[in-house]
Amino acid sequence: MTFEFTLLHTDADSRGRLGRIVTPHGEIATPAFAPVGTQATVKALDPRDLRELGAELILANTYHLYLRPGADVVAEMGGLHRFMGWDGPILTDSGGFQVFSLAENRKFTDEGVLFRSHIDGSQHLFTPELVVRVQEQLGADIIMCLDECAEPHDRAYNEQALARTHAWAGRCRSAQTRTDQALFGIVQGGIFPDLRRQSAGFLVGLDFPGYAIGGLSVGETKEQMYAMLDITMPLLPAAKPRYLMGVGAPEDLLEGVARGVDLFDCVLPTRLARNAALFTRQGRLNIRNLRFERDPGPIEAGCGCYTCRHFSRAYVRHLFKAGEMLASRLATLHNLHFLLQLMRDIRAAIAAGRFSAFRDEFLANYPIIPHEVRVTNREKRRRRNKARATSKGRRGKGD
Ligand SMILES: [Zn+2]
Repeated sequence: MTFEFTLLHTDADSRGRLGRIVTPHGEIATPAFAPVGTQATVKALDPRDLRELGAELILANTYHLYLRPGADVVAEMGGLHRFMGWDGPILTDSGGFQVFSLAENRKFTDEGVLFRSHIDGSQHLFTPELVVRVQEQLGADIIMCLDECAEPHDRAYNEQALARTHAWAGRCRSAQTRTDQALFGIVQGGIFPDLRRQSAGFLVGLDFPGYAIGGLSVGETKEQMYAMLDITMPLLPAAKPRYLMGVGAPEDLLEGVARGVDLFDCVLPTRLARNAALFTRQGRLNIRNLRFERDPGPIEAGCGCYTCRHFSRAYVRHLFKAGEMLASRLATLHNLHFLLQLMRDIRAAIAAGRFSAFRDEFLANYPIIPHEVRVTNREKRRRRNKARATSKGRRGKGD
């Protein structure tokens, strides 16, 4: 069984779509959210949890697995599915974004990107040919072209990066030898409408089985991100799946789906969970807050997740305060359930022809984190990661 996308239904008053992706490891009902398993594990959970949560696709990071344990080790252990004990669909990214955000001393040339590992400082060269070979060794069902994710506001840099991304897309296509993996092209172009148009046009010409939208949710405002989707989506073929990379805030899932996105992935739900930030339909709550000390209720009333069915806010708060491992696990179960349930609700709403009403109702109750706060948090995280990498013997990070 090879890769196949079927468009089942298009919403009457938005660009929302209902579809089905078939891969060699099973089907994915779209629109879908993919939990991220950076190091071939979704942090704090195991594959049995993911199946119970109803996850149909997970993502793993090529950059991290290439550096550790090495793609040859994963290949020798039977490929990523067998190695991590997950027999469902997997998507690997190309590693381009991690080089952009994590690696040190990176240098982009037409040949590829030269960088130093954030783990041990060793030097590596990612070329389009190498990242395809590495992703073939890992064996995911959906794989990505190497791209250069530029700072979104820098016009000159985006022009240069786009030319390179396009040349690399062609080289990735030529380098592919396996026929059971779907290679997606990645539309770039920062916040510049003409570059986004040019990128979509070029990549559609190469006829990929699916298209990703990269370089968004990297510092631009939400309005800019939605504007880029408004421009890009209509230029992509309706019969191919569209994947918005690295986006997972609830409001962005709804706005993305309304613009025709079929796939999302993001570390947000799992990373927030480990920081005691939990999703509810009324916004995020921080379970460490004193007001939950004697709260006997679940994280969210009516939530069907394992955590909410068995434990109180007071208990989850206690676990965080005590630094217990179970805190991360229970919080992650809840946050992933929240997003996966949101996607199930979205699909049901599209099928029933009431997606716009569903979106309006959800957004009316859900406070959105202001742009300035997101920018400050991103900067803090970046500094923390950098400090951690340079001081503590270059530990793994990025999730
Ligand atoms: Zn819950």
